[in-house]
Amino acid sequence: MEKIFITNTEGTPQFGCSLCYKCNSIFGKSLCKVKNRGCCWYFPKFTLYDIQKMIKSEEGISTLNRILKLPNIKIYNYYIHAVGYFDYDSHDKYIKNNGTCELPYATEEQIKEVRSEIISENDEYYIYEEYNEYDSAKNNSIKKPRVINDVSMFFRACPFVIDGQGCTLNKKYRTYICNFFLCDEITDNLIEESTFKKYKEERDNYIRWIEWENSSLESLLRHKNINLVKNFNDVINLLKEIEINEYEFPNLDEININLK
Ligand code: SF4
Ligand code: SF4
Repeated sequence: MEKIFITNTEGTPQFGCSLCYKCNSIFGKSLCKVKNRGCCWYFPKFTLYDIQKMIKSEEGISTLNRILKLPNIKIYNYYIHAVGYFDYDSHDKYIKNNGTCELPYATEEQIKEVRSEIISENDEYYIYEEYNEYDSAKNNSIKKPRVINDVSMFFRACPFVIDGQGCTLNKKYRTYICNFFLCDEITDNLIEESTFKKYKEERDNYIRWIEWENSSLESLLRHKNINLVKNFNDVINLLKEIEINEYEFPNLDEININLK
């Protein structure tokens, strides 16, 4: 039986899912050279609160230094963007040929599989009209293509993911987007699940709290007229001085997934 669960790494909550270890979702397919990376095609943005958490321990400081040494790091006034790998050539070729060309890092089967599982927003109406003509048993048994407007996700990889190993960042220092993301192929199985509604409510409360923390830290920096671009060390020293606020995320029951 597959499960959704909550883990908590020294105060940082995550949603976990047993299916992710054998990801077969369209959201985890790769047509670039980094394979077996699940949905780690996201380029994380580390906020002031994330940075504040890092600089409170030796391990966190080395994580921050590791982030700063990345080749494509972009520092903005109030966050750091860890830009990862993007195979532009394959992406452009795929778009130009509507997914019907050879690609250097994908087999013919992989390209076909992606092409057959996605659909553009414009075609969605027609294909769903066709499904509506089937009886509900047949309709429910069909694996329907998903609307994916931005195919760039098939050609990207986060700078912290390793092929087959997954994320190399301690969960404690991952962004809340990384810690809470579950793709639609998982969440579609949980629509009627009341405990999952609770998961989402608690996640949303936590995200509101993080956003509040970030906006308070940003106001403080604005007040002192400093930011990460112009006064990086001053910001770090200030964040070190300020006591970090903690959030108590509740422990919720795990959920069995009945796959559709
Ligand atoms: S959330 Fe979905 S896409 Fe991401 S690893 Fe899990 S199953 Fe794969
Ligand atoms: S930071 Fe980790 S969890 Fe987040 S996208 Fe990158 S590899 Fe995945």
